[in-house]
Amino acid sequence: MESSLKNEKEGRVSVTNRDLIKKISENLNKNDARSVINLGNGDPTPYPSFQTTLVAEEALLNSLHSNSFNGYPPPFGLPAARRAIAKHLSGDLPHVLLEEDVFITSGASQAIELLLTVLARPGGNILLPRPVFPLYKARAELVGLEVREFDLLPYRDWEADLDAVEALADDETIAMVVINPGYPTGNLFTLDHMQKIAETAQRKGIIVIADEVYRHIVFGNQEFIPMGIFGSLTPVLTVGSLSKRWLIPGWRLGWIAASDPNRLLNKSGIIESIQKYLCMTSSPATLIQGAVAEIVERTPTDFFDKTVKTIRESAEKCYKLINEIPCITCPTKPQGCMFLMMKLKVDMLEGIEDELDFCCKLAKEESVILLPGIGVGLKNWMRVTFAIEPSYIDDAFGRIKAFYLRHAKKTL
Ligand SMILES: *Cc1c(COP(=O)(O)O)cnc(C)c1O
Repeated sequence: MESSLKNEKEGRVSVTNRDLIKKISENLNKNDARSVINLGNGDPTPYPSFQTTLVAEEALLNSLHSNSFNGYPPPFGLPAARRAIAKHLSGDLPHVLLEEDVFITSGASQAIELLLTVLARPGGNILLPRPVFPLYKARAELVGLEVREFDLLPYRDWEADLDAVEALADDETIAMVVINPGYPTGNLFTLDHMQKIAETAQRKGIIVIADEVYRHIVFGNQEFIPMGIFGSLTPVLTVGSLSKRWLIPGWRLGWIAASDPNRLLNKSGIIESIQKYLCMTSSPATLIQGAVAEIVERTPTDFFDKTVKTIRESAEKCYKLINEIPCITCPTKPQGCMFLMMKLKVDMLEGIEDELDFCCKLAKEESVILLPGIGVGLKNWMRVTFAIEPSYIDDAFGRIKAFYLRHAKKTL
């Protein structure tokens, strides 16, 4: 009995990236005098270049001192916060979002948990990209949704394999997830590709869950375009938060925004299910919600420009340095997000089994931490966070190069 419970648990609950990083970190050599460089972490806020704006700090203090935000928050979020997010997002859309189209959640994470829970039904399946933000898979498994994966294509700028989507979607498919700017791939979809995604979803009659937590964290030739512009083709439920763009992931302020001019989500009862769920859960602290309007309305573009500039410099540096090391390669120059994926050519190395082995040995010998690709569903790839102090990057890749030279397979 006990062992069957244990197996059930191990079979269903995915390993989290935090566990993986912990496992890698256990290999660190305490006698190494050099400092540890962590390219595996997802939170840039410890670094001096990634501090939030004074506007956010002041907004929070104003909220506190107003004495108006000490009570329980309304279940769908403070009206002023919902209106502010609706207005903020509408700036990029052809239609206007209203207060009722936005629900405040405890970070984008709770938005994901909520959507997968309310959309789940017996026999249902969900289409997830591979690689993916691991919470989607973990939550889908928890609520009994069958996960069907479509590939993002590394040599086609990480575009979604829409032939696979066509083939995987059936009558039991409840939604497909699209993450753009791309996590953990660092790409940005073209307008043309997004249109094709929307048309595929429309043809298959499925909702699009658009994860846009990295909205406007872009630095290629192209601007950010929200998936919501295609809401008239198929309903788009956009997931977002202040976490990444405002560098305040610990404040836990996120949202779901419904771009659905035809009101299909209302007709099908999905909006009602979201509302019901929100009445059974707990939303972000009222104090933070009281600060939202000021944060989104007053943050100067300077702040975003400065962060994005730092991220771009780091990303370009990483891209260049990676491709100077023979055993790793990054197929696409990053255009957004805070991460990229690099491929490990295991057969160029002596005595390294796979990317997990590479990450463990790299931590031990060079005090550099990378996330093994299995954490995001891609074996023999590794995830690199480039939202770190740019000054660490040369050092990190210098160490990775030294590691490569030490382990390179000898050729005749
Ligand atoms: C960080 C992240 C989230 C979660 O965002 P929070 O607002 O911190 O909960 C969701 N999706 C992606 C792709 C992320 O990188």
